[in-house]
Amino acid sequence: MVILFARGGQASPEEQLACLVLILVVSVITIAIGACSKTNVVLKNGVPYCPACGRQVRARRGYCRSCGHKFTTLQWSSRKTPVPPTHEDPQKAIEKLDQAVERAHRVLEESRRDREVRYEAVRLLQEHQREKAEREKAERRAQRDEAYRAIGIEPGPFAWYKALPDWTQALLMGLAIALPAVIVLFVAFR
Ligand SMILES: [Zn+2]
Repeated sequence: MVILFARGGQASPEEQLACLVLILVVSVITIAIGACSKTNVVLKNGVPYCPACGRQVRARRGYCRSCGHKFTTLQWSSRKTPVPPTHEDPQKAIEKLDQAVERAHRVLEESRRDREVRYEAVRLLQEHQREKAEREKAERRAQRDEAYRAIGIEPGPFAWYKALPDWTQALLMGLAIALPAVIVLFVAFR
């Protein structure tokens, strides 16, 4: 790059472009590293001190001149929030697990009871509808029987026939007698 610049006006447009791209790439990498690096120094009144030996340092240098401690480390964004190690008492962990299992059982039990209640509600509703239908049917039958009695006919399987006008009764009776005879004749003389 320096050589290219040193040659000055002699550089071709391709060389100039390549140089520009190189500068751009280097800048991007520098900025990215800057964004990812973390400086661990002890600040006192805004002045950085080495966390290892306590001597004053230059934050930009990245390491301590006195003891060589590197206080600037690269840290990628995904690792910027390290998961704190858990030093939990195993007994406590087991207790927590037991409580979680207990809670899960309770939730399951509640959902089971809930389902049972819903099933019971549906069953009651169906039963109610069936009873209602039966009651309506009985009412209709009672009304019909009452209507028969009103015209002097005792309710029964043939009440509908007795309720018909005389000429219709005669016609039906005639048909009932004639129809079997017609069928027999039809079958015999086919
Ligand atoms: Zn130091």
